[in-house]
Amino acid sequence: MLDTSEAAVLIAEDERGISEVLGAYLGQMGYRIYLAESGLAALALFREHRPDVVLLDLGLPGLDGLEVLKRIRAESAVPVLILTARVEEIDQLLGLELGADDYVTKPFRVREVLARIRALLRRAQAYRAQEAALRVGPLELWPQQFTAQVDGQTLALTPTEFRLLCTLAKAAGRVFTRSELIEAALPGSEAMDAVINTHLMNLRRKLAMGGADHLLKTVRGVGYRLSAEGVSR
Ligand code: CA
Repeated sequence: MLDTSEAAVLIAEDERGISEVLGAYLGQMGYRIYLAESGLAALALFREHRPDVVLLDLGLPGLDGLEVLKRIRAESAVPVLILTARVEEIDQLLGLELGADDYVTKPFRVREVLARIRALLRRAQAYRAQEAALRVGPLELWPQQFTAQVDGQTLALTPTEFRLLCTLAKAAGRVFTRSELIEAALPGSEAMDAVINTHLMNLRRKLAMGGADHLLKTVRGVGYRLSAEGVSR
């Protein structure tokens, strides 16, 4: 279960009376709250903050809630709780199979919504675990699961190669010296530059199998960096 103080909720609702009441309760419970009053604002906040749960009013100005849901679903499995004033919208929603996780009809009791959010957050932790923690171009890394994929294909990496890749990916674009990489990937070892060179060579070879060796860049006389820059895919 997520600690509520770590959980973030995006409330996409143009009726201030509703969003303020829900925001106040959820804020008091320790959630981080993001409020959006239009569909476009909701999408922008979603992309920026990657909340754990989304409360989505279907009747939003600009981009309506169904369209927002569709776009969120195109890039994320985040739990979405639909708020709607019209029961017919629920039928439409279920018919479209857009992947709303739950819904409440207006008017609703705040207590009801809070209970639904808690239930969705219980699922949110599983969702978090599935989300790629690190992403550089076509490369995705799940540090806790010890998994690296390029375009969905899993790379067979050794623990050292995996740690190297994570170190580089966590600060993508930054140049790491060989001694920094040794410290990160082989802590406490007496490894020399030649050793790290070998690991990096093997890593590059494995990335090449997925067509992603261009991500690992050698910076002459300095070290290495991981970057998707200058690559159009
Ligand atoms: Ca509305």
